[in-house]
Amino acid sequence: MNKLYRYLLVAGLAVISFASQAMEFSAQKVADGVYAYVGPITDRTPENLGLNNNIGFIDTADGWVLVDSGAGDAAAKKLEAIAKGIKNQPIVAVINIGSQDHRWLGNDYFSKQGAKIYAFKKSVKTQAKMFNQQLDRLLPKVPALKGVQMKTADVVLEEASNSLTIGGVEMQLNYYGDAHFPGDSVLWLPQQKVLFTGDIVYLDRMLGVHPWSNPVTWNEAYQQMRQLPSEYIVPGHGKVSDWKQADAETGDYLKKLVEKMTAQAEDFAGVNSAVSENSDWPEFKHLEHYDSWHKQNLNRTYLKLEASM
Ligand SMILES: [Zn+2]
Repeated sequence: MNKLYRYLLVAGLAVISFASQAMEFSAQKVADGVYAYVGPITDRTPENLGLNNNIGFIDTADGWVLVDSGAGDAAAKKLEAIAKGIKNQPIVAVINIGSQDHRWLGNDYFSKQGAKIYAFKKSVKTQAKMFNQQLDRLLPKVPALKGVQMKTADVVLEEASNSLTIGGVEMQLNYYGDAHFPGDSVLWLPQQKVLFTGDIVYLDRMLGVHPWSNPVTWNEAYQQMRQLPSEYIVPGHGKVSDWKQADAETGDYLKKLVEKMTAQAEDFAGVNSAVSENSDWPEFKHLEHYDSWHKQNLNRTYLKLEASM
């Protein structure tokens, strides 16, 4: 083997192993019968198939219950493979706890495999309203999404707190107020003390206030949800953790964001001064994407509060 050939072979192998490493999809055990896929805290890419968020897997006597369905068919197939790799049984239900793309665009795939889809009514409304907009934004980032069909819940939950038992496992789907998206809800497993918070909690990375987010009710929702005696927090993004980290990286941030921007808006300080006076919050600087999101969060929260004065 000549030197150049050997070099190319080694380089090629390195690329293959890097690529397969980057595309590894797996789940970790959270508690007995409960698992989570923890997505990367980067943006959506063709390789991660839009799965840059967390997804839950609950083992029940009837089969798997998934917490959210991933961004489209390709992502859904990866999630299905993860579930069947843990235990080969059908996926009988998907519970959507939000309406951002990677929480529900896999519904159609799972529905066609026989799963029943559950969601809170306001999430369903947001999903239907934002479907086209989400596809337009996402297709350039995740080409695998092409052709995805809209599928919203078969079982639309009407109450702010809904108790469900699927395959002997007790669950509660709770809505505490609009947060990252209108209708964001959480799934609470009282026996296992596991809380899937969806996008109400971001860990390891800075949360994002979008034009359709409501930071005021998001903060209130966090405080209400905080009453649950949860031992395991599966956040919307970031590693599985506990209340201590959730408070430090989401709860405290939302509280400060709303308090500071309310004070600025009451003084009609103007958005430029509100942002520049608050651009440096050292206790949150370790969070990934702080530099790209923090000022944007201040800006949007201030403008929303000023408009409501
Ligand atoms: Zn998200």
